Amino acid sequence: MGLEEKLPNGILLTSVEKLVNWTRKSSLWPATFGLACCAIEMMTTGGPRYDLARFGMEVFRASPRQADLMIVAGRVTNKMAPVLRQIYDQMPEPRWVLAMGVCASTGGMFNNYAVVQGVDHVVPVDMYLPGCPPRPEMLIDAILKIHAKIMDEPLGAARAAALLESGASTDLM
Ligand code: SF4
Repeated sequence: MGLEEKLPNGILLTSVEKLVNWTRKSSLWPATFGLACCAIEMMTTGGPRYDLARFGMEVFRASPRQADLMIVAGRVTNKMAPVLRQIYDQMPEPRWVLAMGVCASTGGMFNNYAVVQGVDHVVPVDMYLPGCPPRPEMLIDAILKIHAKIMDEPLGAARAAALLESGASTDLM
């Protein structure tokens, strides 16, 4: 009798999923991308006082091709929206987006013609973080929640289906 026949259905795939997701969440690299005052708190989070390196992600990448987390730190203007989308499209799959602060999440106090009323009009968002600005502890908490989300994500076809449903463009795994 082969190993597959002795094990309950799906146990091997489940274990591989967990291992792959663990490696992904343990080395998330954010894109260097600050838009407004929230970015100051994001930079502080990367400093020695808050020690983001504990979570395997002290390296903010200047190239989107080496990044898999976009932290949208600040309000997004209509002029900046295509640039943001281009950076997102240049990030390889799998990738995640964190809307940091009320401006990135909803436009915040800038309810006017120049500002996008929530970055989810431009890219799919995995986590919304309230606050103006959110403190570094709050950003770390949101990042840990993304880690938990990554641990529960399916691989392969199931992830592709979830991405298509969310409207994310896909150069899939
Ligand atoms: Fe600035 Fe507050 Fe908007 Fe962040 S949420 S970009 S701190 S105004």
